[in-house]
Amino acid sequence: METIKTRFAPSPTGSLHVGGARTALFNWALARKLGGQFLLRIEDTDQARHQEQAVEAIVRDLEWLGIHWDEGIDIGGDHGPYRQSQRLAIYQQHIQQLLDTGKAYYAFETPEELDTLRKDAESRGESFHYQRPADLPTAADAEKARIEGRSVVVRFAVPGHDVTIHDEIFSDVTVPADQQDDFIIAKADGWPTYHLANVVDDHLMGVTLVCRGQEFLHQTWRHILLRKAFEYPEPAYAHLPLIMDMQGRKLSKRDGDVEVDSFRRAGYLPEALVNFLALLGWTPADGREKFTLAEFVALFDIGRVNKSNARFDRDKLLAFNTDYLAAADDGRLLVGFKDYLACNDQPIPVDSDTLLRKVLAACSGLRTYADVVAKAGVLFAADDSYDFDAKAVQKVLEKNDGAGYDVLVDLQDKLAAHEDWTAESLEAFIKDYGETRELGMGKVAQPLRVATTGSTISPGIGDTLEMLGQAKTLARIDRCLAHRDA
Ligand code: GLU
Repeated sequence: METIKTRFAPSPTGSLHVGGARTALFNWALARKLGGQFLLRIEDTDQARHQEQAVEAIVRDLEWLGIHWDEGIDIGGDHGPYRQSQRLAIYQQHIQQLLDTGKAYYAFETPEELDTLRKDAESRGESFHYQRPADLPTAADAEKARIEGRSVVVRFAVPGHDVTIHDEIFSDVTVPADQQDDFIIAKADGWPTYHLANVVDDHLMGVTLVCRGQEFLHQTWRHILLRKAFEYPEPAYAHLPLIMDMQGRKLSKRDGDVEVDSFRRAGYLPEALVNFLALLGWTPADGREKFTLAEFVALFDIGRVNKSNARFDRDKLLAFNTDYLAAADDGRLLVGFKDYLACNDQPIPVDSDTLLRKVLAACSGLRTYADVVAKAGVLFAADDSYDFDAKAVQKVLEKNDGAGYDVLVDLQDKLAAHEDWTAESLEAFIKDYGETRELGMGKVAQPLRVATTGSTISPGIGDTLEMLGQAKTLARIDRCLAHRDA
């Protein structure tokens, strides 16, 4: 039996989208499961939409997710180069081959002329199909047209028969001959179109399964015809169902993050995100929902991918992340946290693991790492960087003739004299103080919290004051009292 070879072939027009990440994940898992190979090819023939930094970002995001390739950009391999912009001579030779055998021909219409033809067809209620001229232009005609400043493209001459795509997920899909037209394979700048480069590369790189998003299914007839023209063997095809939002619309930025990198920066763990992505259009036979990447590889079966649209349920993803964070051991939690801190502009210092462990331990019940910064970030920011939340000030400090402020004034000297600046000792001190004054713990802790963080949300009061340190605690109490007097 032939060994499977799959690929992920993104166009670097932006950051890696979750849909692309799912495609990469499924391709990778199949290759791993079946002992095959997985390659990463960059399809950068669309110079107008090309973004160089997107290439780096795709590599980085795939690695973060734990998806590694056997050949492709960055690591090379036997079928390189793996960037289409470095393979132009190969495509030109293939385009020439089709021209030489009469399977492709030159065309010179300007975009404006094509537009007029398109509009004419539409006004007749027909869809536009390029009409192949009875006498195909020669190379000399093309040269003359070029000299005259016309744009010269190369079109593929479709043979005029129905094409059936045998898809592993969508079964047989037939595109009738009258819905096909002579599509462009070489653009006016000489660069190949996506169709040509994609087909040539899949063949030359030995890809045996083309697995990609459903949005490419209606293009596949072109690829099948090109393959026939080159006398290439057919690969298997598998098109993955579309990913929609909860309202059944195409997933878009409008309702939240859609890029892998955005989830990384928002404080998600990669294992939670890949687990969630794996369930977009696929469920394991045993109906299980939580699995590691290694378990996914063992469980995955392309036959269980369904064709109905998948739904991107953000609440479910957040619940997954909450569970993964709760289940992570200290080491994993710390590594993930450091990654989160490194890719965000935030005040928590990253150089002491002991401190970071302490911060994490003080913030339980995390949904994302962003919760840590929301809760404890202020402890590491400049003393004058936060505002006092008006509602908290009213409720905790001003109420009852400024009882909260009185507690702060009273505590100033005592805290200045407190020697053992640890969470336990501070906690015990606050408890004692409250008991002596016949005040509940909250009546002491909350004023301190509002004074030192601006709000009522922070880790436990002992942890808060310990992490802040004595000097900053006192400075912040001073600032809060000055705020009252202002
Ligand atoms: N380069 C295509 C893209 O935009 C992918 C094509 C394919 O997978 O065949 O993602």
